[in-house]
Amino acid sequence: MTQQKTIGLIGGMSWENSAEYYRIINPEMQRRLGGVHSARSLMYSVDFGEIEQLQHAGDWDRLSRSMQDAAIRLERGGADFVVLCTNTMHRLADAITSAASIPLLHIADPTAERIKAAGLNQIGLLGTAFTMEQDFYKGRLQQAHGLEVIVPEAEDRRIVHEIIYKELVLGRIRPESRQAYRKIIARLIARGAQAVILGCTEIMLLVSGEDSAVPLFDTTTIHALSAVDYALAN
Ligand code: GLU
Repeated sequence: MTQQKTIGLIGGMSWENSAEYYRIINPEMQRRLGGVHSARSLMYSVDFGEIEQLQHAGDWDRLSRSMQDAAIRLERGGADFVVLCTNTMHRLADAITSAASIPLLHIADPTAERIKAAGLNQIGLLGTAFTMEQDFYKGRLQQAHGLEVIVPEAEDRRIVHEIIYKELVLGRIRPESRQAYRKIIARLIARGAQAVILGCTEIMLLVSGEDSAVPLFDTTTIHALSAVDYALAN
């Protein structure tokens, strides 16, 4: 038996990017362990239709119960730690850790670590309106990691949010939307961003390095790779 922990993924938010986690984690584990090794993992995938409704209704209590339920199911299934495959739902990180006795690998932490390791400090943030406007994510980057966070102006935030919920979670990739994101990224750079966090796990489906004059930090890739690190750590 290889020495690796079992990764517990809470997926389905949306399934489009949960598939990416699986696609990143397994070849990385194979690269690290060689041969035909792959990652030991469980995924509990929710119905995003229900989640999205509750998010937009602001019913974070029910969302909290639902995330706690998912984490408990993973723990019962033998997961050693939880990877919540969405930035937005990290609003409920504390609720999850209080319900489960296995740790949660917070998506903002490995992202911030990479940014700091690159010697960067002023960071643009793209994500859902929840992520860009509420404090749970920006606050962690600022207070726990000392980063300065720049979010798009109101109209740009609306565009970024709408493209996520009306297109990306449905797997719709439109060149017009990529163009819109390019312009929004350029405006963040003009306001001082030295790099931009793709702080929504679907954005990597639309935007890549060539769409930006500064480095992009893709939370899906960073989070998935850090899950492999954690699974292999002693
Ligand atoms: N996957 C997205 C995120 O990283 C948005 C979908 C959701 O609200 O969970 O924030």
